[in-house]
Amino acid sequence: MAVDFEIPAEDQAVREKVRKFVQEHCIPAEEELQQGRPYKEVLDELRQKARAQGLWTPFIPKEHGGMGLGPLANALVQMELGESSLGALALNTQGPDDATMLTLLTYGTDYQKEKFLKPLLAGEKRICYSMTEKAAGADATGMQTRAIRDGDSWVLNGEKWFSSAASVADIAVVMAKTNPDAPRHEQFSTFIVELPNPGYQIQRDIPTMAIEGPLSHIIGGGHAEVVIKDLVVPHENLLGGEGQGFKMGQHRLAYGRLRHGMHNIAMAQRALDMATQRVIERSTFGQPLSQRQGVQWMLADCATQLYISRLMLLHIAYKAEKGLDLRQENSIAKVYLAHMVHKVVDTAIQLHGALGFSQDTPLARWYTSIRSQRLVDGPDEVHRWTVGRNVIKAYREHGTTAPAVGGDLL
Ligand SMILES: Cc1cc2nc3c(=O)[nH]c(=O)nc-3n(C[C@H](O)[C@H](O)[C@H](O)COP(=O)(O)OP(=O)(O)OC[C@H]3O[C@@H](n4cnc5c(N)ncnc54)[C@H](O)[C@@H]3O)c2cc1C
Repeated sequence: MAVDFEIPAEDQAVREKVRKFVQEHCIPAEEELQQGRPYKEVLDELRQKARAQGLWTPFIPKEHGGMGLGPLANALVQMELGESSLGALALNTQGPDDATMLTLLTYGTDYQKEKFLKPLLAGEKRICYSMTEKAAGADATGMQTRAIRDGDSWVLNGEKWFSSAASVADIAVVMAKTNPDAPRHEQFSTFIVELPNPGYQIQRDIPTMAIEGPLSHIIGGGHAEVVIKDLVVPHENLLGGEGQGFKMGQHRLAYGRLRHGMHNIAMAQRALDMATQRVIERSTFGQPLSQRQGVQWMLADCATQLYISRLMLLHIAYKAEKGLDLRQENSIAKVYLAHMVHKVVDTAIQLHGALGFSQDTPLARWYTSIRSQRLVDGPDEVHRWTVGRNVIKAYREHGTTAPAVGGDLL
């Protein structure tokens, strides 16, 4: 069979529709926000327009009100949505909510789906995820937050930090240690917590290096530091069963890792377009920058990384469509795409000169926000550690590293 990169007509059509929606509605809506129109009003209107066009929670099955897109079509849609900071929100596919919706859909009880998932899918509520603590992040088995059973409830005590969107969320998914004597990865469970809650005390949104506009916290919700004090959670809010906390975490992170990468494609594409327009228009020392070979090489390096990134995502989407194991590729792509977007935005800043360093273009804001991608959802080193181990394992098992480096393509 020939290797076929043709995108099915219906997937092309949905991508076109989303591209048009982002260009015609989301990007102008960003302008309206800058000009002071209330965020809620802008978002409600965008969401109404999106739903009227059948654009809503792309990855959720149709019977739950979503578009029911498969991995390839969803990847194509997400690549378009990343072009606007309102794109994913408009279609109710924003992080961190999206990944948790999938986990609730897969592991939630009927009660949990009815009470917590339904309003999330309808876009009426938002959800955050509280795993990381000051005590433990990359190695989450160091979490100290404790949950103790008390009749029909659990009582949680501890702390969390960097819980994204907690201050705008109506629900928190909280991980806590339920059994210190169990094997390491079975000591933790996941609890659904309704907010606001006197036991889940948000201390502050942690100031970060990311440049924030006046609306950042309303849109993104910041990254909260939380004290968990005598937090009472009914037993029926235990998600996925006792000791299954890591399974829930891995399930939601698997999707979340890809989503960032997909959005990165759109951002990097927009940055490369801006850089190219700039070098065509700007002359120095009697020549347009676009005619300098050194500048052309800079653009070429960005184009190469962007092309590799697109191929990686399409290959991963293909594997997902076929139900194949994609964990190795997922880790490789997660790291690569975070560096790719960093490189392309950095190059665009360089070619814009002082304008790139200013806040008169979105480049500086992008640059400071994407840095976190090399830390979140598993830092670079942890993914590279896993990838490297798989390379060695493949060699030991097969006498070649090919199976761990895309060799199934050959
Ligand atoms: C913007 C942002 C949003 C976030 N959102 C959320 C959220 O919504 N919910 C949530 O629960 N958490 C969230 N986090 C937390 C994030 O998941 C953690 O920051 C991440 O897991 C790393 O943990 P840590 O910060 O404690 O770093 P540490 O665990 O202290 O690691 C520090 C560094 O050590 C190195 N390192 C670690 N382990 C290894 C190893 N085995 N080999 C080699 N080097 C290693 C890496 O360079 C790593 O960056 C967010 C973080 C950020 C920055």
